[in-house]
Amino acid sequence: MKLLRFGEFENEKPALELSNGKRIDVSAFGEDYNEAFFASDGLTRLAKWLETEIAACPEVPANARIGSCIARPSKIVCIGLNYAKHAAESGMAVPTEPVVFFKSTTALCGPFDDVVIPRNSDKTDWEVELAVIIGKKASYINEEDAMDYVAGYALHNDYSERAFQLERGGQWVKGKSSDTFAPLGPIMVTKDEVSDPQNLRLWLSVNGEMLQDSNTNDMIFDVKHIVSYLSQFMTLLPGDVISTGTPFGVGLGFKPPRYLKAGDIVELGIDNLGTQRQQAVNYSTL
Ligand code: ZN
Repeated sequence: MKLLRFGEFENEKPALELSNGKRIDVSAFGEDYNEAFFASDGLTRLAKWLETEIAACPEVPANARIGSCIARPSKIVCIGLNYAKHAAESGMAVPTEPVVFFKSTTALCGPFDDVVIPRNSDKTDWEVELAVIIGKKASYINEEDAMDYVAGYALHNDYSERAFQLERGGQWVKGKSSDTFAPLGPIMVTKDEVSDPQNLRLWLSVNGEMLQDSNTNDMIFDVKHIVSYLSQFMTLLPGDVISTGTPFGVGLGFKPPRYLKAGDIVELGIDNLGTQRQQAVNYSTL
C-alpha cells in the first residue's frame, strides 16, 4: 500500500494511492496514520476495510496540499555520516558505530511545502534520505528480526542549518529541528512493495542542477542493522521515523560551501518512493 495524507497543515486526512495512480480519501476509515494506527495492525485492517468500501471513497482533489505521509510521531531519529563519501566531504571520520541524533518532531511537514530558512540562518543545507517508518514497538531486537518491525519507507529531506549544527556548541539537534526541516513523503510505501531497501537510487537537485545522486547500497550501516542498533538504546514506537543518512553532495561539502537562499528550488526523489519539491523562503516573509 501507498499511504499519504492531504489537507491543511496539522489537519490532514488519510488517503491511499492505488496501483493505477489514483488517490483516494480514506478518512471514512476513521483513523489517522499515527502510533495507535500502526500499533493496532492498522495496515491490515485498512486493507480489509478497503475491500468493501473502496467504491465509496472520494478522490483526493488534484489541487490538494499533500502533507507528511504519516502523522507526527513520538520521535524522528537520524543517522549521521552513514555514507563514506559524505563523511569525507564533511571532514569527519567514517564512523565505527552509527552516529545517532534526534530531529524535533515539529520539523515535520509536507513534501511540497516551502522550506523556511530560519531566523539568523545563512547556512541552510539539504540532505536527501531514505526514511524508515516503524510498524511495531521495538526494544532489544536482533538484526535478523529487525525487518519485522518496519512498516515501510518514505522519502525525507533532512534539512540542516550548518552553523546551528556545528558552530553553536554541543549536539547537532539545533541545526536539524527548525520548522519545515523534515518534509516526509509524498507516500509511505509498505515494505512488501520495496523489494530491496538497500538498492534504491536517491537524488537531489537545486535549481535543476543535480547535486546528490547515489544509491542506498552505499550505506555503511544498513536498515536492519540501524533498527536493531537503535533498539538497544531506546524503545522504538509504532509510527516512529528513522532517517538513514545522506550521501555525498550536500552544500557543506562544496568549496566554497553552497547554501540555500530565498527562491531556490530543491527537488529530490528515491526510486519507488516519489519525489519532493520545496522552494526556499525567508523566515521574515511569513
Ligand atoms: Zn541527515
